[in-house]
Amino acid sequence: MRTIGLIGGMSWESSAEYYRLLNEETRRRLGGHHCAPSLLLTVDFAEIEELQRTGQWERSGELLAEAARKLEGAGAELVLLCTNTMHKVADAITDAIKVPFVHIVDATARRLTDHRKVGLLGTRFTMEQDFYRDRMREHGIELVVPDEPDRTLVHDVIYQELTRNRVEPASRAAYRDVMARLVERGAEAVILGCTEITLLVDQSDCTVPLVDSTRIHVETGVELALA
Ligand code: GLU
Repeated sequence: MRTIGLIGGMSWESSAEYYRLLNEETRRRLGGHHCAPSLLLTVDFAEIEELQRTGQWERSGELLAEAARKLEGAGAELVLLCTNTMHKVADAITDAIKVPFVHIVDATARRLTDHRKVGLLGTRFTMEQDFYRDRMREHGIELVVPDEPDRTLVHDVIYQELTRNRVEPASRAAYRDVMARLVERGAEAVILGCTEITLLVDQSDCTVPLVDSTRIHVETGVELALA
């Protein structure tokens, strides 16, 4: 099995989930005491979050490219970036390394074999900017994002709670309502397009299939590492 490099820390709450799922999935496939050969590099989310808020995407791309180079130098044979939002700067990362980069949008889109109109929950950057929507469209998928004030609610729960290690029942109920409104607007499935949302809701919260980008990203990484 090839060594998987994880660029984590965005936030560490979801990186911990990546680490657990990576090893669970490897054991599920290989059995016994198998776990995944991996390297986790944690960046400081305070720095990244400030660059996001102030629109300094180029600088954040440089920082994440540097993280990817370090992982490659340390022996990573493929790289996963453990956040949807920062895939906005995926090109800076792929340009910096020679080993494969497992893109979370491509991995998630390839699972959506039965659905073409799909709801999306994520940060404001992911829901509103073009990078996610355009890449999904290349796979033939049309995204439905929440209207306001639901988008603000979804974004605020991520930054004020989930990335601060808080999981609140009231926010789960609020997300349930947001998802129900996406379904009313025609969403045939809902993408959990932020790597912490899987900590808050599960399939019992939604009447259409939930598509968990975190789990799918991990499974795709393991599959490639074993190929
Ligand atoms: N982990 C989140 C995501 O998947 C949000 C944190 C971040 O901004 O990177 O988008």
